[in-house]
Amino acid sequence: MLPLSLPKWRDLGAGLLHLIYPNLCVGCDRELSGDYCFCLICRRQLHETKQYLEPENDFTERFWGRLQVESGAAMYYFNRKSPVQRALHQLKYKNQADVGVRIGRRFGRLLARTPHFADVEAIVPVPLHSSRERRRGYNQSAIFAQGLSESIRRPVLENVLARVQQTTTQTRKKRMERFQNVGTVFALKRPDRIRGKHLLLVDDVLTTGATLEACGSLLLSVDGVRLSMVTIAMAVQGV
Ligand SMILES: [Zn+2]
Repeated sequence: MLPLSLPKWRDLGAGLLHLIYPNLCVGCDRELSGDYCFCLICRRQLHETKQYLEPENDFTERFWGRLQVESGAAMYYFNRKSPVQRALHQLKYKNQADVGVRIGRRFGRLLARTPHFADVEAIVPVPLHSSRERRRGYNQSAIFAQGLSESIRRPVLENVLARVQQTTTQTRKKRMERFQNVGTVFALKRPDRIRGKHLLLVDDVLTTGATLEACGSLLLSVDGVRLSMVTIAMAVQGV
């Protein structure tokens, strides 16, 4: 019997690893062959928004009269039956951070081809409360941001926004009142890092828009900031 060379051992190792952790579709658990996280069958059921091709679209429309948005887009429309729903669940609750990175990379490649996002200078993920992040092990928006960053080659600024506990002192309470409608309070921590920049604020989903509005307003309060936003998915009203 011929001795196995090092590369063959490596192949064997990869094969065993694949047996233990097979590469499965996040939409349906079928085994995957390609490099994306959805199989071909699920990919036919995904509903890409293509919003990134238009400067004004049904994503940016959600913020009319609420927030000055340069460009905005979700990658997919979201409904209860979509494979996207399952992918978001895997990302948020099943420790599948890789899903966020892979979708981010793919969306980033699409964004890089359009002029609307060309002058974005940095990516800011919507923060999780630190205790929740410790429990989950990661912030799903920051993971998505990391994938985007690899494709559009812009840095991720994770310490600009924070999600903080509601404080009980009266003065702090008043200042934070306008953010209470989302049930959480955000704080701007490092305005010096974003002054004059075009920022890409990212979250996993757009539903009511209250979270993005709260974070976006804080970012826009800094001199010269321009704001664009992207999410993995967008809830379609009435679906
Ligand atoms: Zn599938």
